[in-house]
Amino acid sequence: MIDYIIIGAGLAGVVMAERIATQLNKKVLIIEKRNHIGGNCYDFKDENNILIHKYGPHLFHTNNKKVINYLSKFTEWDIYSHEVLASIDGKKVPIPFNINTLYEVFPKSKAKTLEDKLLQTYSYNSKIPILELKKSTDKDLQFLADFVYENIFLNYTAKQWGMKPEDIDCTVTARVPIFVGRDNRYFYDKYQMLPKNGYTKMIENMLNHKNIKIMTNTDFKEICTLKEKEFYFFDSKFEGQIIYTGQIDELFDYKFGNLQYRSAEMKFETIEKEYYQEKATVNYPNDYEFTRITEFKHIHPSNSKKTTILKEYPQEYKKNQNTPYYPVFTKENQNIYNKYLANSRDINNLLLVGRLAEYKYYDMDDIIERTLAVYEKELYV
Ligand code: UDP
Repeated sequence: MIDYIIIGAGLAGVVMAERIATQLNKKVLIIEKRNHIGGNCYDFKDENNILIHKYGPHLFHTNNKKVINYLSKFTEWDIYSHEVLASIDGKKVPIPFNINTLYEVFPKSKAKTLEDKLLQTYSYNSKIPILELKKSTDKDLQFLADFVYENIFLNYTAKQWGMKPEDIDCTVTARVPIFVGRDNRYFYDKYQMLPKNGYTKMIENMLNHKNIKIMTNTDFKEICTLKEKEFYFFDSKFEGQIIYTGQIDELFDYKFGNLQYRSAEMKFETIEKEYYQEKATVNYPNDYEFTRITEFKHIHPSNSKKTTILKEYPQEYKKNQNTPYYPVFTKENQNIYNKYLANSRDINNLLLVGRLAEYKYYDMDDIIERTLAVYEKELYV
């Protein structure tokens, strides 16, 4: 007997399963295409005994105490603040671009002029999106905006999205603002930490319940069929709830067209020395075909004499060939998504949740907050 079928064992599916199993005391089956749980948060110890993130660096940060309280039932934490450098003309400087960065890239007097101008215009510790700063009419701020735009955003965004910064949704580049302060951290949230034994371990703990069964290596379409407005589990009509966290266009057999996603090839390398670079991530906006190099030892300390690095090569997503990581926000994609969403509302026992199903650039804390909210609104009675 299964009460709920969850498609996808990433954070959205796992949080739903945990809530349903423990709070509703109902039986859940999770169907997962990959050979592991955890979705893109999946981490494991590699041959160098270093904990690596298979699908790229996942750094947990949030201001949401509810999310922390929830996850703390399943893991202890290590305090960790992520720092990123950007390589500009061979020099590695802190980003988000902040007042310290000014003094690294410009002569002292020029940096001072720009610092004064920033502080006259904006309050200390404010975050200014690059596309906002570009609108400035002040000539010093215009100079600064052009410098940051050209050196940090333009080419990185071309690699990452195949587009210019102004052609993607402005919230994307606003994730990495110009910071009118001296904090070199990549995120400014109150809580910045990592699950002590990794994401996979935390997620295993979330799923460790007698009401939860998991089928990995299984494409849901092998065992579930959507006919008209009804789901079939093998040959029987499924009367329970379906929670779908995968690509929404795939669920509906692409009938309104393919949604666009960005992907990336993740290339790991072992380097025969203790450390490779000075911080966890170094971005290369203007050189190479990869966007950034992450060195996992900075994220999860290890005694290994070697080190593991990851280079991320962005690519267009291609069905069955690579992984869809990011929704691509254009008007056209949003229109296609809206058609799928409207269609999904005709199916009574279907809930959509997660980055792929909702076609939203959710961070990990957003997913947990969102999933808990959907659970409370739709399932908890
Ligand atoms: N970005 C950039 N240069 C950088 C870092 C970020 O142009 O050095 C832009 C780019 O468009 C990127 C977006 O800011 O996609 C968001 O970056 P973030 O680091 O948040 O991306 P994520 O870690 O989610 O892949």
